[in-house]
Amino acid sequence: MKLLVTGGAGFIGSVVTRMLLDNGHDVTVLDDLRTGHRAALAPDATHVELPVHEAARVLTPEAGFDGVLHFAALIAAGESMVKPELYWHANTVSSIALIDAVRAARVPRLVFSSTAAVYGNPTELPIPETAVKAPTNTYGATKLAVDMALTSEAIAHDLAAVSLRYFNVAGAYLRDDLALGERHDPETHLIPIALDVAAGRREKLQLFGDDYPTVDGTCVRDYIHVADLARAHLLALSAAVPGRHRIYNLGNGSGFTVKQVVDVVREVTGHPVPVEVSPRRDGDPVELVASSALARDELGWTPEKPTLHDMVGDAWAFYRAHVLGQR
Ligand code: UDP
Repeated sequence: MKLLVTGGAGFIGSVVTRMLLDNGHDVTVLDDLRTGHRAALAPDATHVELPVHEAARVLTPEAGFDGVLHFAALIAAGESMVKPELYWHANTVSSIALIDAVRAARVPRLVFSSTAAVYGNPTELPIPETAVKAPTNTYGATKLAVDMALTSEAIAHDLAAVSLRYFNVAGAYLRDDLALGERHDPETHLIPIALDVAAGRREKLQLFGDDYPTVDGTCVRDYIHVADLARAHLLALSAAVPGRHRIYNLGNGSGFTVKQVVDVVREVTGHPVPVEVSPRRDGDPVELVASSALARDELGWTPEKPTLHDMVGDAWAFYRAHVLGQR
């Protein structure tokens, strides 16, 4: 297929781009590099340096694209509470413009990066796709708005749409010739920050709240390896059906507290990783654990690296080699 990947210079988008190319697809990456990394761009893909809201310049009817995978977005839940306007524009307004371009160019399918943050504090665990959607942060709300737009777009205009609701993505994509990992600036995610501490680049980890109603008082998340997540995109692309918007949660179905994650980072890195308890971060849901039964049943998806040790191990291997420059 001829595919447009928005955000193909980002963490997940760059991994999916490599898998698409390895599977014989023709890939154009649309990424303005405002948060993506030039080094993550695949040499075999065409790169167009444009923001998502200008996608129509590439996505013309003549170009003959068979599908779009839409990753480009802002993703820091905490920041979205402080600068909501940034998130509504980057995540929702831009996505609506992209959907307009998809319709105008008669592109038949679209796969969208949605998030577990749409559920807020869930009323059932593990969370099925049918659970109540009540985001506690603006990030989740901006993604939920796009999910809703895709549902009506699919029905009204026969689009084959799939939303993949990611839980907490971790690990790195490592091959002999390639290493793609997580690098945000500023970094806000738990595992990369804990690795910064382990590497001596930060003094300690701020633990945002230890008085939540969980086993040890810290928030619970479901972590998924980036390679497992990426494979689900290829399955979703083949399973997409015209006129339908299918939605799948992607996680491993097991929850880890922030303290448990830090313990795994300590084991993997051999560093004590000092922690300082800080106030709760605004917008954080208490517990997010996926039911991915639908993805397993309908897409035939099975995670190959479900353990947190594997994920932290791969993230640490990437970090040492490509952030610290050690082999
Ligand atoms: N967290 C933390 N300290 C940090 C970064 C994150 O205590 O420096 C906590 C955060 O409050 C949340 C969990 O770790 O409970 C996962 O946060 P992250 O930002 O990695 O992902 P999110 O679940 O927000 O997408």
